[in-house]
Amino acid sequence: MNVPYLLLDIDGVLIPFPQGDGSIPATHVRHEVVLDGRAPEDPVTVWLNPAHGPMLTDMFRSVPLTLVWCTSWRRDATTLIGPLLGLPALAYVDLPHPKITTPHPNGYLWKRDYVDAWLGNEPAVWIDDDFTPLDHEWAAQRTAVGFPTLLVQPDAHIGLQPEHLTQVTSWARALSGDIASPVPAAAPGREVP
Ligand SMILES: [Mg+2]
Repeated sequence: MNVPYLLLDIDGVLIPFPQGDGSIPATHVRHEVVLDGRAPEDPVTVWLNPAHGPMLTDMFRSVPLTLVWCTSWRRDATTLIGPLLGLPALAYVDLPHPKITTPHPNGYLWKRDYVDAWLGNEPAVWIDDDFTPLDHEWAAQRTAVGFPTLLVQPDAHIGLQPEHLTQVTSWARALSGDIASPVPAAAPGREVP
């Protein structure tokens, strides 16, 4: 099996949405970035957790995964957000700009049809804060037909946590066969060495 993709969202995952009172997790640091095609005097404020870069880097050292941005930041993910976290230049899914007023125009995440086509039959873990039950059904169906798919869904106001990457790591290890050998069960009349 090919090395699985890790599709990574940004808004609601690396950049949490403010709570009702406008607060952001204390772990996050304020940055101002200038989006591609925007004037330098028109920056966007973003909040990033400096621990996320090392967390992701450590994970890639321990399990085989190919990280690809999958976000409405598109190329700006690679040129603006990744470097602020110390990540190398990464590929990104070149999502279109659909005219939609909800992230779930058909009851499921708007990115999914593009991701489905982009992935083909490759295994993938996808971290996004915006999946619906229909997306989880899609992942289960892909897995059932032999294309392992894991969806990981952080709380949009908290964002990516270490346990999410633990979940990704366990899934990737199991796929690669790098799992601990089970302890042999004792059989009647036979000694277990
Ligand atoms: Mg999001």
